[in-house]
Amino acid sequence: MQRTFTHKAVFSLLLTLMLVCSGCSASAQSPVYAVSTVSSSIGFQRFSRTDLNAFDTVITLIGFAQDQAAFDRAADRAFEKIQSLDHIFDGYNAYDGLHNLYYVNHHAAQEPVEIPEDLFSLLSWCKEQWAAGRRETNIGMGAVLSIWHEYRTAGMQHPEEAKLPPMDELIAASEHISFDDVVLDRSKQTVFFSDPDLKLDIGAVAKGYAADAVASVLYEEMPSFLLSLGGNVYAGNAPLDGRTNWAVGVQNPDITENGTKEILDVHDKTVVTSGDYWRYYTVDGQRYHHIIDPETLMPSRKMVSVTILCESSILADFLSTALFVLPYEEGRQVADSLEGVEVMWILPDGSVQATDGMKDYARSMKAPS
Ligand code: AMP
Ligand code: MG
Repeated sequence: MQRTFTHKAVFSLLLTLMLVCSGCSASAQSPVYAVSTVSSSIGFQRFSRTDLNAFDTVITLIGFAQDQAAFDRAADRAFEKIQSLDHIFDGYNAYDGLHNLYYVNHHAAQEPVEIPEDLFSLLSWCKEQWAAGRRETNIGMGAVLSIWHEYRTAGMQHPEEAKLPPMDELIAASEHISFDDVVLDRSKQTVFFSDPDLKLDIGAVAKGYAADAVASVLYEEMPSFLLSLGGNVYAGNAPLDGRTNWAVGVQNPDITENGTKEILDVHDKTVVTSGDYWRYYTVDGQRYHHIIDPETLMPSRKMVSVTILCESSILADFLSTALFVLPYEEGRQVADSLEGVEVMWILPDGSVQATDGMKDYARSMKAPS
């Protein structure tokens, strides 16, 4: 992954520092924080570890364990998995002998490339969504996204010269974004591009896949944990300090106001947010962010943030991007059709919409008991 620290990463870093330094007060303005301190009477203590070296973000693990050694054993396994996935999903760097995303994007049009199981699983999962007609999140859209990436990066480095990508360039690239041209062979675990100009960009789902994979390691290793990979959070069993839930904050997109828009009380759930304030550049006074509508080939302006709560982080990540691109009414229909998926939308006028089920988790929406 490119090692450029984004707003998302900086925000998460602040969060991490708050977690480490403040003992986690309820008023902390952060996407994830614990509300109270540890009860030692049950023999478990709270530990945490932070990593800055994967997925272009700040990764924080909070876990309950009987002692530091037990926590470290579990955390070592979790962070090894994160490192391994970071390399496999890296679209910018090659690693000796590893057929990672970078390798695939450079070789899969010449011949089928045998890939690691995790990359194959991620691609197969996305292929199923494509086949089912969910195409607003299209990880085969790398040809278009890389143009935006190039202009955004240049515009961030030299804001006075920031430009929009020419529409004819985007349209030409959009001829090469059909996921039908990503040919997967389960028996050989290979991927082949039948369109030589197709490129994959898995940024919309990679952290979600990783959060699920690491959560399954942690479920085996720790009685309770909270994992944060930037905007992707996985909350395991309830914290062992007397509380029944983890508190997960949803950031207020309006940075002039309080940092937390909503607090979700959850356990055994993932919470994923896509927002227009994470990664953007400015051209002629207007912000252009990183979530591109495949229909218009432009950053979608229908939402400022979409938060998904469910049990599968890859699904949450996929949907947070898809529902960011869809108008509210259409996104609401998608959400209502999916069991166990709750959604909170923040619209450009600042208004908030939520599925009925979301109101059971969101502190400000709960019916008074
Ligand atoms: P997320 O923050 O999960 O919404 O993912 C955003 C990232 O996904 C961007 O940085 C792009 O790499 C990629 N992306 C942007 N728009 C799309 C889209 N419509 N479909 C698939 N990937 C996208
Ligand atoms: Mg996503």
